[in-house]
Amino acid sequence: MRVCRFGENRLGVVEGGDGSAAVRDVTAALDVLPAYRYPLPTHDVLIAGLDAVKARICQLLPDAPVVALDSVSLLSPVANPGKLVAAPVNYQAHLEEVKVDPQLHQNKANVLTIHSAALFLKATSSLAGAGEGIVLRHPDRRVDHEVELVVVIGRTASRVTRDAALQHVAGYTIGLDISVRGTEDRSFRKSPDTFSVVGPWLVTADEIPDPNALDLQMTVNGELRQQSNTRQMILGVAELIVLASSFYTLHPGDILFTGTPEGVGPIEPGDRIVASVAGVGSMTVDVRA
Ligand code: MN
Repeated sequence: MRVCRFGENRLGVVEGGDGSAAVRDVTAALDVLPAYRYPLPTHDVLIAGLDAVKARICQLLPDAPVVALDSVSLLSPVANPGKLVAAPVNYQAHLEEVKVDPQLHQNKANVLTIHSAALFLKATSSLAGAGEGIVLRHPDRRVDHEVELVVVIGRTASRVTRDAALQHVAGYTIGLDISVRGTEDRSFRKSPDTFSVVGPWLVTADEIPDPNALDLQMTVNGELRQQSNTRQMILGVAELIVLASSFYTLHPGDILFTGTPEGVGPIEPGDRIVASVAGVGSMTVDVRA
């Protein structure tokens, strides 16, 4: 199932192919979620209750209103992730390009492999949906695109084993890990508002039997910039979950950026990015000042 959020916090199911995709408005399925009083849970309520929501969606679908996909503004499929976890250099070919571009390794930590650098966190306030676009706060600085497979955690995961890791995944989506280049710490450079674009929707894990064999690519204004396959990742999805959950508990709705392949490069106001992952779909994201 492809589950999206759109417009004014509406919930949808995406049906059909690229040219004729439509959204069924199933916002009423959110009524099965529990009501909370302060303090709110530290997980995402929709993802934690996704099984119940999906069951309700199936009941609602036959009579759910249909809207054209290209008429809606897509939000992040996860509204309230507890944390945004991200892999730094996780493709060997990207590490090689970092080593030869002085602007990419102004911080010496950027040339460590993931085995040495492990993972970093991005501010949750940097989260944006495809329809919200990317806003460049510092147009005088070089800001790069990074297309990545994104994993959405579905079940609480602490010290999970490799064999059990994928059972903790709710689904997959596409991420743009937007990055100011410079000397500052990664988490600072990658956390401006809108610098974590996630979308266009969540594809539930049952539809992606092997997340480590997905073509991914990204264009800017129609020009191909990044193209790879997730089998090129140094640490695969299961290993990343093992690594993350060995240090902290992952909660439903936590988001894991799995790292970018080679081909990163600058973006500027007016650019239009199209990012695609096989089995997930593609999202169009505009860049503005
Ligand atoms: Mn990245």
